Amino acid sequence: MEMLHVLIIENDRAIQAAVKRAIAEQPVVEQFIVKQLTIEQMLEASDLTVETFNATDLATAITELENYPFDCILLNTISLEDTSLQLLHELAASTQSTPMVVITEQAEPQTMQCWQNAGVAEVLLRSSLTPALLAHTLRYVIRLHRAEERARLAAQRLRDNDQLLLRQYQVIEKQEQQIQQLNSQLLEASQLKSQFLATVSHELRTPMNAIIGFSQLLQRERELLSLRQANMVNRILSNAKHLLGSINEILDFSRIQAGQLALKQDSVNLVHLIRATTEELQTVAAHKHLSFEVHLDLPDSQIVTDCTYLQQILFNLISNAIKFTAAGSIKVEAKELDSNRVAIIVRDTGIGIKPADLERIFEPFRQVDQTASRDHSGIGLGLAVTAALVQRMQGRITVKSAIGKGSEFQVELPRQLVVPPLSKIAVASSGC
Ligand code: ADP
Repeated sequence: MEMLHVLIIENDRAIQAAVKRAIAEQPVVEQFIVKQLTIEQMLEASDLTVETFNATDLATAITELENYPFDCILLNTISLEDTSLQLLHELAASTQSTPMVVITEQAEPQTMQCWQNAGVAEVLLRSSLTPALLAHTLRYVIRLHRAEERARLAAQRLRDNDQLLLRQYQVIEKQEQQIQQLNSQLLEASQLKSQFLATVSHELRTPMNAIIGFSQLLQRERELLSLRQANMVNRILSNAKHLLGSINEILDFSRIQAGQLALKQDSVNLVHLIRATTEELQTVAAHKHLSFEVHLDLPDSQIVTDCTYLQQILFNLISNAIKFTAAGSIKVEAKELDSNRVAIIVRDTGIGIKPADLERIFEPFRQVDQTASRDHSGIGLGLAVTAALVQRMQGRITVKSAIGKGSEFQVELPRQLVVPPLSKIAVASSGC
């Protein structure tokens, strides 16, 4: 059974007076001792296991309370007096967590009210006090007090949690604001970057076209040039074309990013288009001693799509296939998927792509080998532009690859491109 610790306070003036008199008058001492013993005896006679402590003044009581965790305070008083009430108020102020029970000779309803207001949990009349009643009251008061304490602690914990949540919510709100701010800064920076890329590539394109044009003119005047000079002109032309290709890629990319890509609905003969595009690239493949095959299985080769951009898609995929293949073959295939869709497939026997890189190669500027010493040229925009173009042309691009064995890019396109009116923005693509 749990041991209860009870502080008994005898503070009534009458009792204190009796204590003083007790020193001189034996009978009164007996009377007082009998009264005090009665409570302790009652506790002993009850079924409680109790350890009691006695105090006769407030200072002692408070010191005891500060030093020891009592389960209950029993105030033994004769009647309501200002001093008793004062004592109760001071006790209540100093010890909020110990329930108080008053045992008294008399208690008017008004008096009871005063005591309850002072924090007393229960008032017992000494005349009707029995060990059982005292034990029952103590148990009840202590249990009630502990339940209230638990509820108070739970409420306090809830309030603390509420405060914590509120603080965390405020932190999150602040972070959200910061993220929003950063987002708009990023968006602005990205728009500026796209604008910058568009302007720079546009500025570079004009002189580059002049270099290419004049180099071509010089090429035609071959008889006026020495062999060495003709070789130099060839190299100027091929480098200028390569540079123009990169500039165009950047320009296309910035247009796509700015949502300024205008699509045309050209009537395209797919067989002719593939043959024309592969013709130029076949010579590049031949320089690397790669075999180049074209299989076109299209009962109806007529489709409606943007001719220039389809050519660019093909060019990007085939030139990548050549670029990343050291030996073996490049195969270009076209077939009908169903009455509404066609597929163009570009296969190579090149270095292949790791499964982890397959998704990322379509991201702008992403190259599997991003070291400065990489073997292959390129700015990492070809596939990003290709994927964006295929998507805008209502198609789908997929890739299969195995390291060391090669890659296969498949582009599916609708036979009839539907151009939403809004996307016909004034950016012209050169004719096919
Ligand atoms: P770039 O060719 O200019 O580097 P791309 O966007 O065209 O940029 O391609 C991105 C990356 O995808 C390449 O750098 C390369 O790592 C990988 N890749 C593309 N095509 C192939 C291919 N046919 N075989 C192997 N890797 C490829």
